[in-house]
Formats: sequence, C-alpha cells, structure tokens
Amino acid sequence: MTLLLAEDDAILADALTAQLRRAGFDVEHAPNGAVAEYLMLKQPYELAILDLGLPMVDGLTVLRRARAARVGMPVLVLTALDSLDDRVAGLNAGADDYLVKPFDFPELEARLRALLRRTRAPGSGLDMGQLSFDPDARRAFVRGVPLELSPREWLLLELLLSQRDRVVTKEQIGQAWAADGGDNGSTGSIEVYIHRLRKKLEGSGLSIRTARGLGYLLEAEAPAAP
Ligand code: CA
Repeated sequence: MTLLLAEDDAILADALTAQLRRAGFDVEHAPNGAVAEYLMLKQPYELAILDLGLPMVDGLTVLRRARAARVGMPVLVLTALDSLDDRVAGLNAGADDYLVKPFDFPELEARLRALLRRTRAPGSGLDMGQLSFDPDARRAFVRGVPLELSPREWLLLELLLSQRDRVVTKEQIGQAWAADGGDNGSTGSIEVYIHRLRKKLEGSGLSIRTARGLGYLLEAEAPAAP
C-alpha cells in the first residue's frame, strides 16, 4: 500500500516517512505542490497526506485540481494553523479528513487507518450501480448474484472500476494482466474479454463504453426514459 506524502518541511517529512514505513506503509514524498500535483494525477495511491502550505502550488489548489481530474483517492490534509477557515476550505476542496499541526504520530496513523477502512467499506468502496465488488474476497455480485469471472476478467473489471468514468487504455489492461503473471494480451484478445465482461455486466446498470482509439471506460447507464 503506497501513500503520497506532500510536505515541504524536510525534517517533518523525513520523520513521518520513517514512522509511516515502520507502520507498514510505502511512502512517496513530494516536497512541493508541483510534484504533489504531478504524482497525484499520475499515480493511483491508496491515500494522500497533503500539507496545505506547500511551495510552488499550494495544497488547496493541488487538491482542487486533482478532484477536478476525478482523482478519487482519500486525502488527509495537514494544516499548520488551527484555523477554521483552512479546515473548511480543505474539506470544501475535497479533503476527507484533516489534522492540525503539531500532531502526534499515533493520531495520524489512527486517522489514516480509519480513512482506509471507510473508503474500503462495503457500499462505499468499489460498489457501483447494481454491482458490488469485494476485492479482498475476490468476488463480485450483480444484484446479489455472484459473477463467474476468469482471472483476466476479474483484473479487467477491477481496473475499470478503479478508474470509473475515466478511460482505461489497452496498454493499461495489458500491463495489469502481465503484472498478474500472464502475457499482456494482444489487442484482439482484449476485445474478446471486453465483450465477455459486457455480457456479464448486463443488468448491473453499468456499461463499458469504447473510446475509439483510446480504450474503454466503465460508466453508469443513463436511466431508461419513463
Ligand atoms: Ca508547509
């Protein structure tokens, strides 16, 4: 599990990185807002810890831009001042929680674990439409009926869900398959798997749309006209 830590205070960042690693998290550090923005848009971290007072691009702007780009990862903001305005602005910009500096590491860790639990809880994590998706048990259900999915179909669905409403490229699909130990699949076989998955998702309220020349995206079907 990899976290992004955006913090410009080098001493605090080093200390937090060491403590987070001891607590079992992988950490990538962004020392300024520009790097934080780049990494948030590029990498699907499990969670981001975002200082609001960052050089180059301030934390609120980073957060607003990431949310505008549909980056959905949970974000905990760090505010230097015990200022209500800062906290309200952070939450309005799409933060999931905040912590006022200075704080104790155990409190940060407790907040992170709570956030991760909340965002993974059934009904809020990867559920969409009539589909519920349990990554830990590796099972998916449409209207409560279990879906029979091959390992490749499973990876495909997981990828599409993790980037819901965003295009997943054929290259990403190939990479996900290759990372799971298979070959990366020819373009033709990706189309075959998409076709199969579309059939299996019938009745789920979700459809896989082809973005010609780009890839595929999973989206909610428009409700039928009355
Ligand atoms: Ca700062």
